[in-house]
Amino acid sequence: MTPSTSGATDPDRVVAERALAELTLRRPWSMRRFVEELSLQRGRPIEIVEGLGEYESIDFSGIWIPLPEKDLIRHRSEVTAIERDGIIAHELGHIVLGHDVSEDERLEYYSRTTPSIPAAVIQRLIDQQACLRSNFDAPIERQAEWFATLLMQAAEELSRPLLPDRELSPRQRRMLERAAVVFGWSM
Ligand SMILES: [Zn+2]
Repeated sequence: MTPSTSGATDPDRVVAERALAELTLRRPWSMRRFVEELSLQRGRPIEIVEGLGEYESIDFSGIWIPLPEKDLIRHRSEVTAIERDGIIAHELGHIVLGHDVSEDERLEYYSRTTPSIPAAVIQRLIDQQACLRSNFDAPIERQAEWFATLLMQAAEELSRPLLPDRELSPRQRRMLERAAVVFGWSM
């Protein structure tokens, strides 16, 4: 799942790292809460929907559909919770990194939309073809995948118990628990 160019100086990784550093990741980790907080931070709702809906027949795991009022992420339904979060993380990467269609394209498709599929969605579909997680040719796909990889690594860290049960004296434990409260971590 990690792009083949894995050096710390990989420019696509650096882009993803910088974007992630701007975001708030909290204990206990929850993708749902992260998405809610990200929505608030951006002032634009991100909605996660299980199932690919009208795109079910197309062979990819997730899709980002920018709508006028919100960003919609659809993910395949027959996946494990970890796979689901990985798919969502990748699509969030596109959103956070601003891999959007231009304003002009947007306006153009909004003006002539409704029942027909918007041009931006077509564009997304085209992008997503390159996004089947083995194909990192497009820089935006590499960046989104780096974002997903780094976010999922951070999520794993935040999902681990904060304190090792043994090795701590009761006093040390109380000190750490107090520190955790100060930092807003739940234990
Ligand atoms: Zn993608």
